[in-house]
Amino acid sequence: MTDLTAQARLAFATHNVHKVEEVWAILAPHVPSLARDHLVDAGSLNAPSPVEDGPTFEANALIKARALCAATGLPAIADDSGIAVEIMGGAPGIFSARWAGAHGDDAANLRLLLDQLGDVPDRHRGAAFVCAAALVAPDGMEHVEVGRMTGSITRTPAGDGGFGYDPIFVADGQNVTNAQLTAAAKNEISHRGAAFRSLAPHVAAVLQSSTL
Ligand code: IMP
Repeated sequence: MTDLTAQARLAFATHNVHKVEEVWAILAPHVPSLARDHLVDAGSLNAPSPVEDGPTFEANALIKARALCAATGLPAIADDSGIAVEIMGGAPGIFSARWAGAHGDDAANLRLLLDQLGDVPDRHRGAAFVCAAALVAPDGMEHVEVGRMTGSITRTPAGDGGFGYDPIFVADGQNVTNAQLTAAAKNEISHRGAAFRSLAPHVAAVLQSSTL
């Protein structure tokens, strides 16, 4: 007999278990067939990480999802995200994770961005977090959705929650930084929340067809 449970697994192109929890919390209400242990990260699947050399968030999310789908034979999701500052022409953008040089040095990245905006008045400190979420299925189906969270860059960091640039970003309609919001409150308004909620119906359809 066919093992339907195994077929309904979804691979997620991340090695970050916190991100798996976050994205599962976003998808679960919209994809009831996705059990928590059916969302499997790339690390657990021993899948290699591809070179992310695309010029856009969308291209990089697709590179990651395609590589993971090809390596595992499972439908795969991936995201690519960053912060785009208006007066900097959309930078740091796809370079957000390595803006200060070393990949993933959140404190240095945040400090450099604040320094670069040192003389910029409040009215020109508009920015947006952007997230592209991609889905690639073994039959070749590909889909990408983009979510945005608009707001502005503060002058000093505040808050202990979140990660990356959260301590220096106040979303429109909020009066505290992202790092002062609860995880659930941030998911409701976040770029990642928006992108994965838009992707959810497509994930549900792919999981449905893989169990038929
Ligand atoms: P990645 O898509 O997880 O590789 O994230 C790229 C980089 O963008 C991260 O290292 C952070 O610097 C920044 N970033 C993306 N999303 C967020 C967010 O929700 N809060 C703060 N920083 C973020």
